[in-house]
Amino acid sequence: MSDREKNEIVGGMLYLVATPIGNLADLSERAVKVLSEVDFIAAEDTRNSRRLLSALGIGKEMLSYHDHNRRERGEEIARRLKTGESCALITDAGTPGISDPGEDMVALCAAEDIPVTLIPGPCAAINALVLSGLPTERFVFEGFLSAKASERRAALDELKGEKRTVIFHEAPHKLRAALADMCEAFGEDRRIALCRELTKLNEEIIRTTLGGACELYAEREPRGEFVLVVEGAKDAKEEKFFVCMTEREHVGHYISLGMSKNDAIKAAARDRGVHKSEIYKFMIEE
Ligand code: SAM
Repeated sequence: MSDREKNEIVGGMLYLVATPIGNLADLSERAVKVLSEVDFIAAEDTRNSRRLLSALGIGKEMLSYHDHNRRERGEEIARRLKTGESCALITDAGTPGISDPGEDMVALCAAEDIPVTLIPGPCAAINALVLSGLPTERFVFEGFLSAKASERRAALDELKGEKRTVIFHEAPHKLRAALADMCEAFGEDRRIALCRELTKLNEEIIRTTLGGACELYAEREPRGEFVLVVEGAKDAKEEKFFVCMTEREHVGHYISLGMSKNDAIKAAARDRGVHKSEIYKFMIEE
């Protein structure tokens, strides 16, 4: 199949289109083509999306599709798709279906045998996971924690023994409470990457421990959008083995397993949730 045929708009298809999470240049060529050529666009926030579309010079029929009208509006969109119209669905930012009503629209299409495809692009959770420096091989996405303290704590309690890396969305005004509860549930030594304002000019990745994050944000006002990536739980055995060791002994342990000195320093730093320069310091001092 030629590229032209492959990218042709198909009648009756729902196109989920990923949009930028902060950097307009992240909108793909294919996304622009689909937005320009479909019959109509369903958007979570039509005002926001109109700004994006007018920056692209696209004027098109737009319907709102959000948390509060997703049932009726979803059915209306499905009816139009069944008559052969094509529709692009965009949510506030990022990949539709991740922590937004896109999920329901796909479920409806799946139930009604309506073809759906995704024009891939930015997704804050994946962006953060990749930049976290934490294991990416196995991970869990938890979306937003509840704003209610009791529900948030219960959810974190369930995750206490989770060994995979855990990803959370978080709003700035709830950050301090979430960090305090995470510290309580997972312990202050658990590593975390706070990924802020991804793809924007002020993108910032803070790699620290939960204790360190609580201290930092006790002083600093949380601002912007955050994804929190938290290290998974270690086996009790794994967690304890270096507790009684000095930094030098900890490095020696890894060297005895066959690691180079450099790698052993890195591994000890990773276990302790500190930068490798902290371990180097002890290697020189002792
Ligand atoms: N569907 C979106 C996606 O694929 O990224 C996520 C939508 S969810 C309603 C919005 C949350 O994503 C924000 O509260 C924040 O946690 C995260 N987020 C979105 N953009 C971000 C950014 N530029 N930097 C950090 N986090 C971001």
